[in-house]
Amino acid sequence: MFRRPLLGLLAGAALAAPAMAQAPAFPTRPITIVVPFAAGGPTDTVTRLVAEAMGRDLGQPVVVENVGGAGGTLGAGRVAAARPDGYTLLLHHIGMGTTPALYRRLPYDPVAGFEPIGMVTEVPMTIVATNRFPATTLAETIAVIRRDREKINLANAGIGAASHLCGLLFQSAIGAPMTTVPYRGTGPAMTDLISGTVDLMCDQTTNTTEQIRGNTIKALAVTTSEPLAALPNVPTAIASGLPGFEITVWHGLYAPRGTPRPIIDRLSLSLQKALTEERLIARFAELGTSPVAQNRATPDYHRQFWMADIAKWRPIIAAAGAYAD
Ligand code: ASP
Repeated sequence: MFRRPLLGLLAGAALAAPAMAQAPAFPTRPITIVVPFAAGGPTDTVTRLVAEAMGRDLGQPVVVENVGGAGGTLGAGRVAAARPDGYTLLLHHIGMGTTPALYRRLPYDPVAGFEPIGMVTEVPMTIVATNRFPATTLAETIAVIRRDREKINLANAGIGAASHLCGLLFQSAIGAPMTTVPYRGTGPAMTDLISGTVDLMCDQTTNTTEQIRGNTIKALAVTTSEPLAALPNVPTAIASGLPGFEITVWHGLYAPRGTPRPIIDRLSLSLQKALTEERLIARFAELGTSPVAQNRATPDYHRQFWMADIAKWRPIIAAAGAYAD
């Protein structure tokens, strides 16, 4: 590089000049990604890995800010109201598909308030119990719940959280509603599950895999059609007597509405690079997931997927009458 002739450098600069004149330099300062759940949970874990990798590509720090509460709507609302300049982003999950139907009154527009940048990952879930729970299989757990359900607490991260949706599916599949305990995210809920303050939770593998391997909690089932490579000894819910019990939690990156397209495209490119980094892929695999294929980490694919998810959930939520307000 130092030996490159001066003339070559000047020619390179001249070639680059017109492009630089069109697009203002971005980013020139740190970027914040809001996680709409507490620190230490699965969305937080995924976001920190992505943020670190994007920071390497963008040449600026990408910092994570946790704004948990109200099933992810507080954090999402914060980003919808932020300046659309690419410096405040949101990494959210399936809640972006369910919130428009679940919440009929919100101080922001849960669809038009955002520009999708790209999908990130689709994470399997696990049904887990505190070690003190008097059952070790899903079938035994269901029997205990049916017998003693008023004594059993199910943790979640608020209405619209993935843990809430999975918990709803679980309770309706076994026909036994339980007492639910909402947290600002399943990071703090995990602390209470480990200590036995709450009994059960349904959460992404990105929060539960290491706890399961460390035997600090019990794994009852995974919510995929086949067992997971990261948790080979954990049976599927389907094989444990809950036919059709399948749920994965998609995640995507968003900017506020009105963020200029060149900035969205720059961020999407950076996301795509982050998701193909070997070390990110390896860490995701340890946590029981994988990044989406590169063509899905694009604004257009993400928008299409997100809109289809909203359309998928709307009638289900309307039929269940499961509104947050
Ligand atoms: N996994 C949580 C949920 O239930 C959110 C989180 O803490 O990341 O959606």
